[in-house]
Amino acid sequence: MNVLVINAGSSSLKYQLMNPETGDVSAKGLCERIYIDGRLTHKVGDKKVEKEIAMPSHSEAIQAVLSILVDPVDGVIKSVDEIDAVGHRVLHGGMEFSESCIINDDVIKAIKKCIPLGPLHNPANLMGIEACQAVMPNTPQVAVFDTAFHMTMPPKAYRYAIPAEYYENDDIRRYGFHGTSHKYIARRAAALIGKTEFKMINCHLGNGSSLSAVKNGKCMDTSMGLSPLAGVPMGTRSGDIDACVVQFICNKYNMSVDDCLNMLNKKSGVLALSGVSSDFRDLEAGAANGNQDCVLALEKFYYEVAKYIGAYTAALNGIDVLTFTAGVGENGRDTRKAICEYLGFMGVKIDEEKNMVRGKEILISTPDSKVQVWVIPTNEELMIAQDTAELVNAAK
Ligand code: AMP
Repeated sequence: MNVLVINAGSSSLKYQLMNPETGDVSAKGLCERIYIDGRLTHKVGDKKVEKEIAMPSHSEAIQAVLSILVDPVDGVIKSVDEIDAVGHRVLHGGMEFSESCIINDDVIKAIKKCIPLGPLHNPANLMGIEACQAVMPNTPQVAVFDTAFHMTMPPKAYRYAIPAEYYENDDIRRYGFHGTSHKYIARRAAALIGKTEFKMINCHLGNGSSLSAVKNGKCMDTSMGLSPLAGVPMGTRSGDIDACVVQFICNKYNMSVDDCLNMLNKKSGVLALSGVSSDFRDLEAGAANGNQDCVLALEKFYYEVAKYIGAYTAALNGIDVLTFTAGVGENGRDTRKAICEYLGFMGVKIDEEKNMVRGKEILISTPDSKVQVWVIPTNEELMIAQDTAELVNAAK
């Protein structure tokens, strides 16, 4: 089976053509500068092709992707009919979606209803869906939501302690993000340890970071909230912050709430603390050269992640497995070591040699550690392709 996985942004569109059973990717690429001029980067194995193609809308971008996939020289399939289904990443499923689903008119309406919750991403995701429907009207399309995995949280985890009317009238609550990644890691962890009933915390640490507390494969709590701004400090996001900071800054600097939120999303996090970079490699290099601001940025990050792990361990009444994934979680040896050092009190012990790994699936805890600690590279595209295949096969 061939599934085309699409992640449409406002001016870009990422794609992968993959086999959901084996995870083999036959081709992948990126359309950029949609609505401006248009550039396609297409990769098959090690071969990379770059083309300037006019992309006045997402529709031309999808057409460019389909054309190159069937191209006699750079393509990997003979006809578009060889694409059995399309899986779309959709950011916000609000309270409408607790799982992936086959796209029909009602689903489109419900995704539109979630636009106020995901004002930047949902319209772009919809453009990707509508463009695919226009050029491949007979191919089933599936929506996979970044929020869906977290919909099993109990009310005590997802409700904010604010007047009920904002929840009842406006759907204001914790949703959480990176759900496709958290779901993939929860499934991989279950396969790796050979159990379905266990308690785990997954640390998705990348440019954006979130943690989730998972019991028997179901999400019980997660660190991001109504938006991806909440939780631990990130590359450029502040993470959790007292709402009065917004009031203070807006009043003192005559700043709009939107501008203040832009600052908290794009100019904060480890970038702001270090004054150097949002990239952990730069922070580690800075700290190694004695830059104390880089040291503080890293220490703050380790401390806040460890605090969430402590909180979720209490929430789950103990854990069996701790997993690290995404750019920093998969590659950041110093980060994993520093976080695990905080967790000695709960019997976490890692093998320093095994922890030297980058980007590979491996158990890094010692045999006598009370908690298994794993590094598991995430694969959101594979999760999207698998959900898509499952739904399309079930509907046959
Ligand atoms: P992601 O958002 O999952 O793509 O993660 C991107 C982040 O991973 C980058 O901003 C880096 O900070 C981090 N990263 C990638 N490679 C390394 C590495 N070798 N050591 C530490 N951090 C890394």
